[in-house]
Amino acid sequence: MIISKRARAISPSMTLAIDAKAKQMQADGIDVIGFGAGEPDFDTPDFIKQAAIKAINDGFTKYTPVAGTVELKKAVCQKLKEDNSLNYDISQIIISCGAKHSLFNAIFTLCDDGEEVLIPAPYWVSYEELVKMAGATPVIVNDLPEENGFKLTAQRLKEAITPKTKMLILNSPCNPTGAVYEKQELEALAEVIVEHKIFVISDEIYEKIIYDNKKHYSIAALHPEIADLTIVVNGVSKSYSMTGWRIGYAAGPKEIITAMSNVQSHATSNPTSIAQKAALAAISGQQDCITEMVAAFDSRRKYIVQRLNNIKGISCPMPHGAFYVFPNISNLCGKSFNGKPITDSFALTEFLLNEAKVAVVPGDAFGAKGYLRLSYATSDKNIENGLDRIENAVARLI
Ligand code: PMP
Ligand code: GLU
Repeated sequence: MIISKRARAISPSMTLAIDAKAKQMQADGIDVIGFGAGEPDFDTPDFIKQAAIKAINDGFTKYTPVAGTVELKKAVCQKLKEDNSLNYDISQIIISCGAKHSLFNAIFTLCDDGEEVLIPAPYWVSYEELVKMAGATPVIVNDLPEENGFKLTAQRLKEAITPKTKMLILNSPCNPTGAVYEKQELEALAEVIVEHKIFVISDEIYEKIIYDNKKHYSIAALHPEIADLTIVVNGVSKSYSMTGWRIGYAAGPKEIITAMSNVQSHATSNPTSIAQKAALAAISGQQDCITEMVAAFDSRRKYIVQRLNNIKGISCPMPHGAFYVFPNISNLCGKSFNGKPITDSFALTEFLLNEAKVAVVPGDAFGAKGYLRLSYATSDKNIENGLDRIENAVARLI
C-alpha cells in the first residue's frame, strides 16, 4: 500500500470541496450560487493591504522567529487582554499559518495514540480529521438538543469523559450552528474540565461575528485553574476578511506553546513574514471594518432565516453568531424527485446543486443528520436569488 494508514483514514474537507466544486462550475459557465464557502465575501480592508505592501517594499521578506514576530505576539497579548480579559506573556503565544494550523499544532502536541478527544456535534468538519491525523480518537457527543442550540452541557460532558479522555474541543460562536455559549454555561463546563483535569481547545475564530447583543466569553478567562487547561485559538481570517493570508494564533500554558512551536519549527517554520505584518495592522488598527461587516451579515441573517422558514418542510432557528444558518430539513427526507428518493442531507445537497444550481453543505459533514449548512457570507443579491431557487426546487419534491 502506497498511502499510509494515517493518511488513508482522512477524508477531504467537505466545506472546501463543495466551495471548489461551485467555483469550478462557475468557471465552466454554469450559473451556480454558492452558499458553501465559510469566508467573508468582503475585500480585505485597504489599511491591512497597505501594511503588507509596505512589508514587501521594506524587504521584510525573510524568515521570522518560528512562533511569529515579537511585535505581532505583543499585539496578540494586548488584544487578548483588552477583548477577552486574558493575561498572557509573549512566550505563551504562537502565530501559525491560519487557525486551522494552530488547531493542528495543539492537537498534535497534546494527543497520544488512542487518547480520546470530545467533540460536541454539530462540529466544524476539520476537528474530527485533525484528531485522527494526530493518531487520537475523536469521540462525538451526539444528540444535544437543537432547542438549546446543540450546546454541550456539563452533564453531557461528564457522561462522555472516560479515563482515556485528553481534551474537549469547544467552538463558540459555533460553525455550523451559530450558537454562542453564555458565561454560566462555560462556568459549568469549566467545573467539569477542572475536576477531571482534561484540556480544552477553545476555538474563538468567530468571536467578533456575533449578534443580538450577545457577548463572547473566553472560557480561559473564568479563573486560573481553567486557563491552565485551555488553549485559545483565534485568527484574522474571519474578523478581517483575511482567509487567504493564513494567519492564526494560539495562546496557552507556556510548556504547551513551546512544544507547539517545536512542532511548527519542523513543519512550516514561521508563517509568512508579509502576512504577519498585515495581521499586525489588522489587530492593532481601527476596528470599524468589523462593525460594518457584522452589520451586513446581521441583515442577511435575518433575511435568510425568514425565507427558509417560509419554505414548507424547512425550519431554521436564528443563529446568534458566525455567518451560517443550519436549517432542519428532516421533513424533506423521504420525499423524492423524478422517482429518486431524497434519503438524507447528502441527497438533498445533490438535488439542490443539480436542479436549483445552488451549493450548500450537508449537515452530515458536521455530524448532524437532517440539516444543511448555508453560509450567508455572500451578496444580498445571491442570497435572494439562491433562496428563490431553493424555494422553487423544494416545491417540486413530492
Ligand atoms: N475554526 C473554525 C470553526 C472555522 O470555521 C475555520 C474556518 N476555516 C477555522 C477554524 C480555520 O480558520 P483559518 O482560515 O484561520 O485557518
Ligand atoms: N471554515 C470555513 C468553512 O467551514 C472555511 C472552509 C474550511 O476551512 O473548512 O466553510
